[in-house]
Amino acid sequence: MSDTVLDRFLRYVVIDTQSDASSPTQPSTAKQLTLGRLLVDELQAIGISDAHLDEHGYVYATIPATSAKNNVPVICFCSHMDTAPDFSGTGVKPQVIENYQGGDIVLPGDTSRIIRAGDNPELANNIGNTIITSDGTTLLGADDKAGLAEIMTAAEILMNNPDIKHGAIRLLFTPDEEIARGVEKVDLAKLGADFGYTVDGETPGHIEDETFSADGVDIEIKGVAIHPGFAFGKMENAIRIAGEIIARLPRDLAPESTRGKQGFIHPTGVSGAMESASIHFIIRDFVDAGLTEKEELLEGIVKEVMASYPGSTYTFKVTEQYRNMNNVLSEHPQIMDYALEAVERAGMKAVRGSIRGGTDGSRLTAMGLPCPNIFAGGHAFHSPLEWISHQDMDKAVATLVELAKIWEERA
Ligand SMILES: [Zn+2]
Repeated sequence: MSDTVLDRFLRYVVIDTQSDASSPTQPSTAKQLTLGRLLVDELQAIGISDAHLDEHGYVYATIPATSAKNNVPVICFCSHMDTAPDFSGTGVKPQVIENYQGGDIVLPGDTSRIIRAGDNPELANNIGNTIITSDGTTLLGADDKAGLAEIMTAAEILMNNPDIKHGAIRLLFTPDEEIARGVEKVDLAKLGADFGYTVDGETPGHIEDETFSADGVDIEIKGVAIHPGFAFGKMENAIRIAGEIIARLPRDLAPESTRGKQGFIHPTGVSGAMESASIHFIIRDFVDAGLTEKEELLEGIVKEVMASYPGSTYTFKVTEQYRNMNNVLSEHPQIMDYALEAVERAGMKAVRGSIRGGTDGSRLTAMGLPCPNIFAGGHAFHSPLEWISHQDMDKAVATLVELAKIWEERA
């Protein structure tokens, strides 16, 4: 008897794998290794003999090729094992609602938490389906244990059905994606894949090939400090200078006032004393030139403010964080074309989308492994209102199997 994708999902979500940005270790939390070891055992049990957990907490495995062709590109399916630090992942008690009949879902462990049908239009597409939620006291962890369960189930289908022709498929499960360290220690040479797909998106049918491009900006201000009793005409308080800069940021370029393909300037930290202050920003845009424009605008504001403080100085440092993966993916159109075709073959309408954020895939793409993002089926990520359906997970499994076939057919 094979496990269903739901059996696997329910096994994975009860293992606490929350990552921790304040931890210097790799992986950031040792508890992520518990899930890594389980996945390796399960991979070996379905006949994937090279499955292993490496010293950095990554799981690598290979589904051997069944095709007689020797020119099928090696593709990689990737998902992450950690859950977000935003909400507790300890003691997850998954609730399985069979034959969902519509309407709001009240979570039994905290009845103030209600998954509202009005806020979740995808619920209406799941009438009669099996919905999984947490009990409301934790997140569920569908981000991204749904991706893990789907890749594992697709792997078992391919291992059990050698008549399905495909090339070699590499599996990669990463720790610490939620704290943006998910691919730092990936060995791409060992992985040996030509193209990859993260399985970490939301709505069935959606494939994302665009992310933000991202920079960080650090502004350091040196003011003129002096005893406040003798300050007349002399003091230039760095705290006031920082405050004036922040007050002049355009309100229409903030995360809370932008959406779709609009970028923003977002202060993420400020600290200071009279003699010096620092402000940290993240800058986001889908177009690299849009980052430069926003950085010029920001530095223009700084210069204007500094003009009234002749004794004070500043430094303005831009650090590249990541780039829109579409810059690279557009050079390899078949990666998206095959994924969109796989979605259609699995019986859904294919939708090409963009993410207002970065993914393991955007970083893998920058490192040399072009890697768009396939839906995993979960909704309301990082919150106690997270939910997913068994049927949507099955659609992701079917998409992955079709995708493996298409790469072989076109080789
Ligand atoms: Zn995720």
